[in-house]
Amino acid sequence: MLQYSETLDVVTFTEHLSLPAGMDPDGEYAMPPGDVGEYAAEVREAAKSAPTRVLLGVEVDWLDDRVNPEITTLGDVDVDLVLGSVHFMGDWVFDDPSRLDEWEGRDIEQVWRDYFERVVAAAHSGHFDVMAHTDLVKKFGFRPTDSIISALAQEVAAEFKSAGVAYEVSTAGLRKPCGELYPSQAFVEAFARAGVPATTGSDAHAPEELGYHLADAETALKNAGYTELCYHVQRERVMVAL
Ligand SMILES: [Zn+2]
Repeated sequence: MLQYSETLDVVTFTEHLSLPAGMDPDGEYAMPPGDVGEYAAEVREAAKSAPTRVLLGVEVDWLDDRVNPEITTLGDVDVDLVLGSVHFMGDWVFDDPSRLDEWEGRDIEQVWRDYFERVVAAAHSGHFDVMAHTDLVKKFGFRPTDSIISALAQEVAAEFKSAGVAYEVSTAGLRKPCGELYPSQAFVEAFARAGVPATTGSDAHAPEELGYHLADAETALKNAGYTELCYHVQRERVMVAL
């Protein structure tokens, strides 16, 4: 039985959509192929008895220059939200702790540029309502200089604005080696200036992580000047006061 935080008004589940054959050999990155219908039914069933509004989302990977082709398995599933994310650069899953040694010897600035090139392409693809954990590339603490990050933040903000996507401020980063929100305040401020809509998320992988430190995400948004948040119903954006 799932426990819901009483302070949450809306909870959107965003399980990872299954990956193409061979990309998730240990079944640890995403739901198994063929499971999306059952997943959707479970979330809709849970929604009936939940003390808060429960919506159905799915997180879908961007793979270098194309959306995860499994997106076609969504078919008639009436998702409320498609969350876009980048976890793969080629066959390197850069945020997987078991692939940490592959950071060694890399040009960190170039890795960041390669990562954000994919994030921006994903944002413009039209497949996604919200971009997930925008600066996930910082997960293990490898980062370029602050001035490079702030220039990147401004570029990404302009691209998100023109693509019409929103982004999430996720508290998952607080539980990771980087120890800060995804994305960092430099991004939140650049997104605020550009007028990119925001939502919040805890990227809970266990019930006890649901709503984890969400107040920190809201504070980050307020400090950057946000007065509204968004969520999505049937792929339509709904704005609510922050
Ligand atoms: Zn993700």
